[in-house]
Amino acid sequence: MFYHSTQDKNKTVESAQAIAQGISQDGGLFVPESFPQLSEEELRAMLSMSYRERAKLVIGKYLTDFTAEEIADCVDSAYTTEKFGSENPAPIASVDYNGAELNLLELWHGPTCAFKDMALQILPHFLTKSLKKVGGGREAVILVATSGDTGKAALEGFKDVDHTKIIVFYPVDGVSAMQKHQMNTQEGGNVYVCAIRGNFDDAQTAVKRIFTDKETQDILAEHNMMFSSANSINWGRLLPQIVYYISAYCDMVNLGKVAFGEKINITVPTGNFGNILAAYYAYEMGLPVNRFICASNSNNVLTDFIRTGVYDKNRDFYTTVSPSMDILVSSNLERLLYAMSGNNDVETKSYMDALKTKGVYEVSDTIKEKIAALFWGGYADEDATKATIHGLFEQQHYLSDTHTAVAVAVCDDYIRETGDKTPVVIASTASPYKFSKAVLGALDRGDLPETEFDMVEQLHEITGAPVPAPLASLRGKTARFGDVTDKDAMQGVVLRALGIGE
Ligand SMILES: *Cc1c(COP(=O)(O)O)cnc(C)c1O
Repeated sequence: MFYHSTQDKNKTVESAQAIAQGISQDGGLFVPESFPQLSEEELRAMLSMSYRERAKLVIGKYLTDFTAEEIADCVDSAYTTEKFGSENPAPIASVDYNGAELNLLELWHGPTCAFKDMALQILPHFLTKSLKKVGGGREAVILVATSGDTGKAALEGFKDVDHTKIIVFYPVDGVSAMQKHQMNTQEGGNVYVCAIRGNFDDAQTAVKRIFTDKETQDILAEHNMMFSSANSINWGRLLPQIVYYISAYCDMVNLGKVAFGEKINITVPTGNFGNILAAYYAYEMGLPVNRFICASNSNNVLTDFIRTGVYDKNRDFYTTVSPSMDILVSSNLERLLYAMSGNNDVETKSYMDALKTKGVYEVSDTIKEKIAALFWGGYADEDATKATIHGLFEQQHYLSDTHTAVAVAVCDDYIRETGDKTPVVIASTASPYKFSKAVLGALDRGDLPETEFDMVEQLHEITGAPVPAPLASLRGKTARFGDVTDKDAMQGVVLRALGIGE
């Protein structure tokens, strides 16, 4: 299995190189040359497998330059009961909401309580093995731009991992209090955390620029280091996400919610388009899917794009109660465009160039039609998000986080508008306790307590929902990091954090 760059088809690498490098030198993203197929027999056999066995089977189809032992080692180290609370790290909880059955795929039982753990607990294992194959003995410097959850999950995944250093940038006013506390209290000898004055898009753009800057790369090389990425532009992030959609389908069959072979709909609360893209890749492999419902918050650039074919980031940016989706440049959409254009690197590059220079592009009619046949886009504003948290709790005593609530609200809109009765799986992406203030506020039980941890406590008293241990244990922990920088100064911050800048 080889990987091409979305912006240069002649660029061909194996998976270890794609994972070690993170992004292609030409600025494009690595994509598999074709999608390995899951035969009906294989999918049927997966019904009786554990999550880990399913993961080994799917991952093995893509990482053909890894041995079966290496893949088994990665999977078995990542998805332990100790880290995810049970044998199945991605269980389904079914609720009735406004008359429809919604199957919530809970992806937040890992160490940092967001779905990012599903990928970031295994990525360090992929990366250290990749570096052994192609790294030439160099140390990997993981640069992360985060809208809140990736940062903590990456820090936790990479802390004290040999031959790696990790540097995380987050928007100073763009994350929840719990997210900020989680990152600033991070332990580990190879970690550094810094806030930036700006939003997530500013952080992501700057990180991509530093990443592909030849001069900075040369400085790193002199010190026997190389950049890599833990953002969802890294193929090693997306691959583990494909697994849980296939696994969820098997669980849906086992739970009697779909007949084997019957199609499902998948709803994903979307920011950088990584999670929903992984669902699409599972479909490309043969998973029976009818439609992908792309749910946005008030930053609804994707809703407009799916409905009109015009991607226009020149619009107001909103700071919402679902901060991990406060994004106007959804990086992984590039990979969808590449697939929808029939793997056309020149066409994909032209859209990305237009986005860079003008902030807007319009896709071809062919792509518009293909997207319209498979995807449905909708958004939930702040009021709709809060009303959904309230409604889910009142109707079903199910406590949802703000991002999951966006997805539930949009899925509800979709069902009412289309009448589509296809069984639906909704990606539930974070623990409600990561966003206690907004969630508690939505339940509407009077004045909010003052501190974050008092809100956690009150939320627990009202709902009885267990507080995840990794969050409870942060109470009273002192911050190790608190630096804030301008977005134009990030490059210097990186070099200084590595001990190689002036
Ligand atoms: C990252 C994140 C999202 C968005 O996922 P993408 O892959 O960026 O589309 C949604 N919800 C939560 C809680 C997240 O952390």
